[in-house]
Amino acid sequence: MSELSIMIVEDEKINRTILSKMFEDTYRIYEAENGKVALEMLECGMKVDLILLDLLMPVMDGIEFLALIKADERFSKIPVVMNTQNAAAEMEARAFELGADDFVTKPYDRNIITRRVDNLIRKYVLEHRQMEARLKNASEEFNNLVDTIPGGIGIFEIGETIACVYFNDGLHQMFGYSREALKAIPREETLTTTIVKEDQKPLMEKVRNAMETGEKMRATVRAKKANGALIWVAITAQKLAVEAEVPRFQAIFLEVTEEKKIEEEMKKTLSELQYRMKWDVLTGIYNRQAFYDATAKLLAENPETKYVIAVWNIDHFKVVNELFGNAVGDQVLRRMAEILKENIPDYIGIYGRLEADRFTTCAPKSYYEETKGQMREYIAKGIQGNVVNYPVYVHIGLYDVEDITEPVGTMCDRAKLALQTIKTNAVDRFCYYTPDMSDQLYREQALVNDFDTALKERQFYIRLQPIIDTQSGFVVAAEALVRWNHPEKGFISPGEFIPTFERNGYITEMDYFVWEEVCRFLCENEEKGITNVPVSINISRKHFLKGNLKEKLLSLLEKYNISKEMIKLEVTESAYMEHPKQIHSVIGELQEEGFVIMMDDFGSGYSSLNMLKDAPVDILKIDMVFIEGLKDDSTRGRDILHCVIDMTKRIHMRTVAEGVETREQYQLLKCMGCDTIQGFYFSKPLSPDEFRIYLKSHGDGPSGSKT
Ligand code: C2E
Ligand code: CA
Ligand code: CA
Repeated sequence: MSELSIMIVEDEKINRTILSKMFEDTYRIYEAENGKVALEMLECGMKVDLILLDLLMPVMDGIEFLALIKADERFSKIPVVMNTQNAAAEMEARAFELGADDFVTKPYDRNIITRRVDNLIRKYVLEHRQMEARLKNASEEFNNLVDTIPGGIGIFEIGETIACVYFNDGLHQMFGYSREALKAIPREETLTTTIVKEDQKPLMEKVRNAMETGEKMRATVRAKKANGALIWVAITAQKLAVEAEVPRFQAIFLEVTEEKKIEEEMKKTLSELQYRMKWDVLTGIYNRQAFYDATAKLLAENPETKYVIAVWNIDHFKVVNELFGNAVGDQVLRRMAEILKENIPDYIGIYGRLEADRFTTCAPKSYYEETKGQMREYIAKGIQGNVVNYPVYVHIGLYDVEDITEPVGTMCDRAKLALQTIKTNAVDRFCYYTPDMSDQLYREQALVNDFDTALKERQFYIRLQPIIDTQSGFVVAAEALVRWNHPEKGFISPGEFIPTFERNGYITEMDYFVWEEVCRFLCENEEKGITNVPVSINISRKHFLKGNLKEKLLSLLEKYNISKEMIKLEVTESAYMEHPKQIHSVIGELQEEGFVIMMDDFGSGYSSLNMLKDAPVDILKIDMVFIEGLKDDSTRGRDILHCVIDMTKRIHMRTVAEGVETREQYQLLKCMGCDTIQGFYFSKPLSPDEFRIYLKSHGDGPSGSKT
């Protein structure tokens, strides 16, 4: 067992020899004659597992030697057995105090002394060695384990800078370095090399805070890999409990780049969703629901202020889309939103987009009244000529808020109802809601409910209004106009039920009925041998969207054996504007087929003469507004009318003036060169039988006379 060694420190040679003899078979023996020599031997690096120490020696005695080695970290763990001969109890106590492990007395009893030494050796040296070996094994196992963990583990000194004192394979691999390359990064550059600049300071703050409190720290930072690539790393760290000059920190690193990517995407989607929930995507202003919410809040917070809800609608917006394309349409809507934003400061009111071309605002009534004219001008100027070269009119439906607890949606519905009552060419392009508008809605619904019965029971019938040639004075045509005699409500004006049926689509069926009545009338005349004049029928815009107009008309003519020249088709001007494409294809085809096409109500909308030259039109029906204009003293109305008639002639179109009520108007139109005239001045719309009589007396037939 020579690997274990004992040092015998004893001044008497004889005693050293006795002791050596006792142990030389089991241990390697070193001898020293006093404390000083023994100390020198230890200092030289001699490996000693136990010291047998005499108490009294010259030069340096046992007590002094003991005190010195127990104070020296290098030797303090070596067990010491003191040998004494009648040692004073006081000395013995001192030796124990200094750290002696056992005592033996002289003369030496071999049995006792070897057992004590063996015990001490087993206890201190062998057990200690075993423990060391176990610890070494465990630490190796631990290192292997730590290196196979997918994450990074590191221990850092946190001083002025962060310095890495230990790291596992996971850590250098995560950062894309070899073990050596990571080690080679200078202490003071650890942080700046591995962490993205913006994240360095916040990370250090967290670290320092965790160092102070001893609490666990968590941070997710952007890290720089050796090749410059960026990764996201989640760090969990805590101060190590061991006492050390520079405090240490253990940290676990997990790469979370993928997770972070997913999280970022989720965040983006979420914020977009949140945006969509509140903001109108096209214009960036409040959407319907957000407007409702914000308005309800505004009203509740200002119960003393009188507010108006306004619904703004761009008249004929569909035309803008059709003429200029959807992209320009979108631009118009965005501009509209901007104008509202510029004119309604946030501290005054709220604005939003309800749907399509409908915007809505809530502002104090006083503010609205003050600025409405100006605002409409801004809108017209801001869009027209700026975004599109097309007249843009805005209609505004208004609702005076009375009960602030009512749902804002209901308030908007009422403003919308008011909006619907504004006619396309109205002078006043805004209208306040009144309760009878709701009644109107009920009334409309009642009309719709009665439609089927009315058709079945022939409550509808036609009237024919003569059209007179200005040169000859004879009746040369007629317009068929529908009437409704309701069994309970009595006579209902077409001005009321036509727009209603146009809105819900029944108009097409009603028109078929009228057309058939006209064909029946013409057919009967043929059979009775009465001279016929062409009858114009009104074609509602809804027919262009259905696609079977030509077939319908042709089959009717065939059924009653009537030629195409006997039927003229009236299409209102606004239909030309609203559905330019369909009009060109459907009406153009009918024109080619041989039907005479009339543009009805010319001048009531925004059509221009320029547009006329390409449109499928044979006869221009000049709207009553022109004729009414003749009543004015100013000559301007007259000049415009004259000009229109001249222009139509130049593009080889004929003209009808409608709504002529006085002899004066008639003569003026005749002078201007207007071809034909329709109006109360000659005749009200007549029943078919009345018309036959009128035709007989005013027609170009044998008994006809000039009007
Ligand atoms: P419209 O096509 O412009 O018809 C002319 C309207 O002017 C008729 O009103 C007629 O009675 C009226 N009128 C004729 N001469 C004069 C006059 O000298 N002074 C005044 N103030 N008015 C005059 P009505 O019959 O009430 O029809 C109104 C509108 O209803 C029509 O306007 C037309 O748009 C529509 N409508 C009438 N019948 C039909 C139809 O069968 N189908 C379709 N789709 N619409 C029809
Ligand atoms: Ca008409
Ligand atoms: Ca008309």
